[in-house]
Amino acid sequence: MKNYQLNNGLQMPRLGLGVWQSENGKETIDAIHWALEAGYRHVDTAKIYGNEEAVGKALRTASVPRADVWLTTKIWNDDIREGRASEALDKSLERLGTDYVDLLLLHWPVPGRVEAWQALERALEQGKARSIGLSNFLESDIQEVLDAGSIVPAVNQIEYHPYLAQADAISKCDEHDIAITAWSPLMQGNFLKEPLFAQIGERYDKTAAQVVLRWCLQNDIIVIPKSVHRSRIVENGQLFDFELSEDDMRAIDELERGKRFGPDPREFAAK
Ligand code: NAD
Repeated sequence: MKNYQLNNGLQMPRLGLGVWQSENGKETIDAIHWALEAGYRHVDTAKIYGNEEAVGKALRTASVPRADVWLTTKIWNDDIREGRASEALDKSLERLGTDYVDLLLLHWPVPGRVEAWQALERALEQGKARSIGLSNFLESDIQEVLDAGSIVPAVNQIEYHPYLAQADAISKCDEHDIAITAWSPLMQGNFLKEPLFAQIGERYDKTAAQVVLRWCLQNDIIVIPKSVHRSRIVENGQLFDFELSEDDMRAIDELERGKRFGPDPREFAAK
């Protein structure tokens, strides 16, 4: 249950720590060390988060070997548009202080995505990335990569939570055995405004955050909740010792309302 077998045969931990908006220093280093102590084996960063140096330092100074931690980073939009994906990856690896990432994603489907995908395929051949994938790609963008590329993406990382079930993008990914990672699985903190999660949690002696994350996992979705607070990092990691009933899963499903907390890829990627 703790790992997801990707279409390339690799085992990706279903729980990761997100580090967006986490500072490039002690804050990120501490958060990663606490997460590893709490059993996480997966960190999700990106060039645009500006904290790859801290992520690298945290992994080099951790008690867990680098080889046991799944590290994801992403190629930012300017580098995709300007045809600089390979150079951008080399710079990310330098900042991270490692010679490979476990997963390399195109951050948004901006123009230049097909050429950038081909650069990711080369990175895979060169061993600089063990898996390659997409982020924020909807149905037609996914098809474009499938048509132009020779490797099926391993993962698509998209906004996903009880208010945004992403049925169309997910069914497209299911057709091609592309795993889904949920970004903003905790609705950027807005889950606290929805009383149902805490009500359900009472039945399992679990918190609202744990209920939301468990709902994602039971839908076969990988989660990367963000926190820089030790107690919350520990709390968000305690997901594998309970199971939501079908009725509770269905009650959460009914909250779906097509609501995004982040940008809509159709608008954002066109800019
Ligand atoms: P999230 O949904 O993980 O919410 C994080 C916020 O929820 C925290 O800042 C905090 O306010 C609150 N929180 C966390 N744990 C809590 C707890 N136990 N109790 C109460 N409040 C709690 O938001 P996110 O950071 O947007 O998403 C997670 C990760 O996804 C990011 O850090 C990043 O790695 C990734 N991400 C990727 C993209 C993309 O375009 N690919 C976009 C956004 C985020």
